[in-house]
Amino acid sequence: MIRADLLLEGIGDLATLAGPPPPRVGRSAGDLGRIDGAGLAIDGGRFVCVGRERAVRREVRLRSSGRSIDLAGAAVVPGFVDAHTHLLFGGDRSAEVGAKVRGASYVEIARRGGGIYATVRATRRATTSALADAARGRLRRMLASGTTTAEVKSGYALTHAGELRLLGLIPGLARTSGVRLVPTYLGAHAVPPGRERSSYVEEIVGRTLPEVARRRLARFCDVFCEPGFFPVPDGARVLRAAQRLGLGAKVHADEFRRSGGGALAARLGAVSAEHLLETPDADRARLARAGVTAVLLPVTPFSSLASSRSPGREMVDAGVAVALGSDLSPNSWIEAMPIVLAHAVYSARLTPAEAIVAATVNAAHAIGVADRAGSIAVGREADLAVFDLPSVERIPYRIGSLPTRVYRRGIRVSPA
Ligand code: ZN
Repeated sequence: MIRADLLLEGIGDLATLAGPPPPRVGRSAGDLGRIDGAGLAIDGGRFVCVGRERAVRREVRLRSSGRSIDLAGAAVVPGFVDAHTHLLFGGDRSAEVGAKVRGASYVEIARRGGGIYATVRATRRATTSALADAARGRLRRMLASGTTTAEVKSGYALTHAGELRLLGLIPGLARTSGVRLVPTYLGAHAVPPGRERSSYVEEIVGRTLPEVARRRLARFCDVFCEPGFFPVPDGARVLRAAQRLGLGAKVHADEFRRSGGGALAARLGAVSAEHLLETPDADRARLARAGVTAVLLPVTPFSSLASSRSPGREMVDAGVAVALGSDLSPNSWIEAMPIVLAHAVYSARLTPAEAIVAATVNAAHAIGVADRAGSIAVGREADLAVFDLPSVERIPYRIGSLPTRVYRRGIRVSPA
């Protein structure tokens, strides 16, 4: 007999995302591992039995202190995994929305000293406790929308000490928020004002990256590989150095134009290439062959008022593994993964099932935590998002405003 301290019954539609190791690609890109009429048994924060409700009831005995909850036909998915965030920043950029609406691009606003440079100034000025408090508020809202795991990039300090300060906040934020956080060092986000690109790249490679690796402050290293930011040779130099130190490589690639970042990710065997709005067909094929996951951020072209859209359908059809991220940043302030899923369907043209795969098991794969997040299976931590909807496909179909009950390690964390 299996002992459990929590039994979740009456699940109308359960997407477990369990099955062969991810990523899910091509024909499998929408495999949900679905169970109708499911039950879940949890003990000590981990799943101990997953299956049809009747089978779970037969195999599980509730501890005397335990309880059983009837979810009344709800749709249940693993807690969402947000594979791309810039969680840590000071200030906001609401004052730039008018200029964006009148046609100013990300690059033009940055060239005038606004955009990312405005955020760099505000982040450098902010006290450590103000940065942490702001991040905690964002994490609370992310959790309330179903996100239980997220990647967090540094990249708004652009100094040696400042980037280390940002990365140093992440373990404490994970502890206090309950959201599982995976840190990425993005020192090469932009060239700091008043510095030469080449000397900044030397500082990243010679000084900051070795310290990040030695202190285990990040699992991945990312480069903003775009003309005017870090062209391919600089990106290659930073990411090769990171790989030698044991960090996985990620690339902000082909967002504004064909930058060669996607091809670079394929050449280096990067874990992921992200954005990819302008990636040509030949480079999509390279990503597929190299097994690089495309982390797509379908809200960003919308909030950037760009004419492009995220190429979800094209990537799946090219055999590339697709994961989703919010791209939460002061340029695109989106915290709620269900809204990202809606954009993944209606703009990037993933099917609802593919969008759910991309926001769970494939996103976990893209940030190196597929062994513990993004799927529901015996032994895993019990992270769940519960929606009062008749099927999981309704999560992207019903755009936003979805009341969500969220469990992290078997404890309901939202609503508290
Ligand atoms: Zn980004």
